[in-house]
Amino acid sequence: MDTTRCEAAEGCTAPAVVKILAPSGTETPACDVHGAHLLAATCNGKVYPLPGEHDGYATAVWYGAQAIKQGD
Ligand SMILES: [Zn+2]
Repeated sequence: MDTTRCEAAEGCTAPAVVKILAPSGTETPACDVHGAHLLAATCNGKVYPLPGEHDGYATAVWYGAQAIKQGD
C-alpha cells in the first residue's frame, strides 16, 4: 500500500488519512490536522476517508472543521 502525503499544507510530511472534495471536483489528500482546516475553508466541501485508513478520521476531521468554523 503506498502512502499518500498530505497536500493540504505546504511542507507537511504527514501521511494523508482523508481526502477533501471541493464542489469544483478537486480532491486534496490531507492529514487529520490540515484536513480539518481545509474543510473549514472549503465552502460546501466534503471529507472522505482514504482507502485503507480508518473511517474514524473522516469523522474527526469533520468535527474539527466545525469547531474551526465556529471560531474555536
Ligand atoms: Zn498536513
